[in-house]
Amino acid sequence: MPRPIQATIHTAALRHNLARARQAAPDAQVWAVVKANAYGHGIERAFEGLRGADGFALLDLAEAERVRALGWRGPILLLEGVFEARDLELCSRLHLWHTVHCDEQIDMLALHKTHEPHRVFLKMNSGMNRLGFAPQRFRSAWTRLNALPQVDEISLMTHFSDADSDKGITEQMGRFEEATCDLPGERSLSNSAATLRHAQDMAVKADWIRPGIAVYGSSPDFPEHSAADWDLQPAMSLNARIIAVQHLQAGDSVGYGSSFVAEGPTRIGVVACGYADGYPRLCPTGTPVLVDGLRGRTLGRVSMDMLTVDLTGLPDAGVSSHVTLWGRAANGTVLSIDEVAQAAGTVGYELMCALAQRVPVGVED
Ligand SMILES: *Cc1c(COP(=O)(O)O)cnc(C)c1O
Repeated sequence: MPRPIQATIHTAALRHNLARARQAAPDAQVWAVVKANAYGHGIERAFEGLRGADGFALLDLAEAERVRALGWRGPILLLEGVFEARDLELCSRLHLWHTVHCDEQIDMLALHKTHEPHRVFLKMNSGMNRLGFAPQRFRSAWTRLNALPQVDEISLMTHFSDADSDKGITEQMGRFEEATCDLPGERSLSNSAATLRHAQDMAVKADWIRPGIAVYGSSPDFPEHSAADWDLQPAMSLNARIIAVQHLQAGDSVGYGSSFVAEGPTRIGVVACGYADGYPRLCPTGTPVLVDGLRGRTLGRVSMDMLTVDLTGLPDAGVSSHVTLWGRAANGTVLSIDEVAQAAGTVGYELMCALAQRVPVGVED
């Protein structure tokens, strides 16, 4: 028998979450963001649940080829554009739309030989200060692009740094609006947080939204709102089984560093999941888990291949019981990946992206 651990990708949850994003911005088209191998879910595994999107957005040319190989003939957007001139050949061949965020990318386009002009998304740096043209340089970049025979339609885009928090998007929206108000072209502004929190705001209406994390069922602004608050369903579950049970007496410890010491008789379960599976080593004693669908907690340090859970108060649990590390248990109970991420001092994004190669992954509806 293989080691009893498995991740499951939930096609119906992806479909549901995509519909939620649409509902939040009903007039917009939706890029399903599938960078980083669909946030760790696997592009091929997530495709069925996401094929109702209007397009797929990603960074890596190899991932774009994989989306085309699945038979997708609709739009694909390279969120960082091309990295070198010959990437443009693949853009021409696979009909990829690409972001243009710097002068060097315009230089490459100007030298590119193509029969079919490219659809490009011109990116403004409205305050994130990673990629894009500064507002005062945006118009000249647009004018230069617009004069190129290699360029077809130019869309306008920016990315928000604080859509998930109180700071919000007002300042960045103001800069974007001011610098683009008389430029033609479709607009793409909102990630998940901006879509869920701000897309109802008339000023933020845009033609293309770019939800990522919400589509995978994690809340973009946890703990202010949980995934359940946003009516999002987990698209990934990580389940493993208990492979041993130990009985501790007061003063006994468990695991490396003896970080947990029992105060009294304690029954613990040893679970076939560790940090080499992508479960964060930083999760301390008390991190929530589901044992046969009932809420429990971890004890002691997470090791490479195992972690331990408290079975006190769970008398029916024992060897071969199912432990849900995040996602959905067989009885339908959900443990949000955001709660586990918070215990580890990180975000759901990182956990889903870090699911390890050695974990077998299944797909169900
Ligand atoms: C990753 C990314 C997104 C999606 O962000 P989420 O927070 O996951 O919704 C949107 N736009 C750009 C440019 C991105 O790089």
